[in-house]
Amino acid sequence: MLEDKNPELTPISHYGEFGLIKHLTETFSFENSSTEVSIGDDCAVINPEGQKVVITTDVLAEGVHFNLGYVPLKHLGYKAVVVNLSDIAAMNAKPTQIIVALAVSSRFPVEALEEIYAGIQLACKHYKVDLVGGDTTSSTSGLVITITAVGLEHSENMVLRNGAKVNDLLVVTGDLGGAYLGLQILEREHSVFLANPNMQPEMEGYDYILEKQLKPEARTDIKKKLAELDIKPTSMIDVSDGLSSETLHLSDQSKVGFRIYEEKIPMDSLSISTAEELNLNPVMCALNGGEDYELLFTIAPADFEKIKNHPDFTIIGHAVDLEQGNFLVARGSNELVALNAQGWDAFLNKGN
Ligand code: ADP
Ligand code: MG
Repeated sequence: MLEDKNPELTPISHYGEFGLIKHLTETFSFENSSTEVSIGDDCAVINPEGQKVVITTDVLAEGVHFNLGYVPLKHLGYKAVVVNLSDIAAMNAKPTQIIVALAVSSRFPVEALEEIYAGIQLACKHYKVDLVGGDTTSSTSGLVITITAVGLEHSENMVLRNGAKVNDLLVVTGDLGGAYLGLQILEREHSVFLANPNMQPEMEGYDYILEKQLKPEARTDIKKKLAELDIKPTSMIDVSDGLSSETLHLSDQSKVGFRIYEEKIPMDSLSISTAEELNLNPVMCALNGGEDYELLFTIAPADFEKIKNHPDFTIIGHAVDLEQGNFLVARGSNELVALNAQGWDAFLNKGN
């Protein structure tokens, strides 16, 4: 796909800049009445219709955030949108528009960009957001894709990181650690492939965690579910860097500490068995693995009854005085283990 010497592939120069943008975006349609002017003018025009505008951006750089050795381009386009929509969801806002900026080297043919845009378009349709603009430039080293997402919401519904109070319950959606473990499997199989290109990768049975890594979803569905339960979180964040780091962000902004109960942390059985296979501590994968794109939030203790048996939500802990710090309460022993934001590079192996 990336071989620009292949005569069947189309070099970007074939279209020229304007022709290329038109070629890539002409099949996109619009879902939001707030989109007034989109691709083709100097700026997009968004009409917030009396709501507040929330804006976020994320850069994905080849070699830093993704490896085209095992990430399909269509998935990359999809995921680049999703990571931004996850941030909008974490504000309890509704994502409405995106802007896509690409820096791309001439080793990518038009067909590669078509794949990326097919992924972007799939995400736009799935999440009902409009592509309203972008920028396209050349790069001397690899691919960089930067997406900016816009969301709209009435101010009374918006949730920031700073509203958690002592005794609030800490809640997480879905399950954790899967995306990190999916990445470990992809990297393992990729290095096997590099060592011996004739070896078939062994990906069977890992579907759930591979999908969590390659085709994550933003929890834009949670906003509606919380509204149905008549719950407004007191603080919220999305889980992009691991539970530990996100909890510390809520702590920092809300000026409270947290206790997380190890036994409560939701993990899929495949994530647990894969962690054990790779000799990793499963809970460490949830705490410090990245890219789960679930939502982490706090609710008032009075909302406990409303949420306690809901399949999408797990209560994993509660807020305490800031002076009491942020700790994991270990299973069985009740020993307190300090939460730290080690991120997912400095990773603890089982038994270390
Ligand atoms: P300008 O010179 O004003 O920056 P461009 O020539 O970069 O305009 O872009 C022309 C139009 O195409 C603008 O509406 C811009 O938002 C849109 N656009 C440019 N690149 C992309 C892209 N990669 N994806 C979507 N829209 C794009
Ligand atoms: Mg431009």
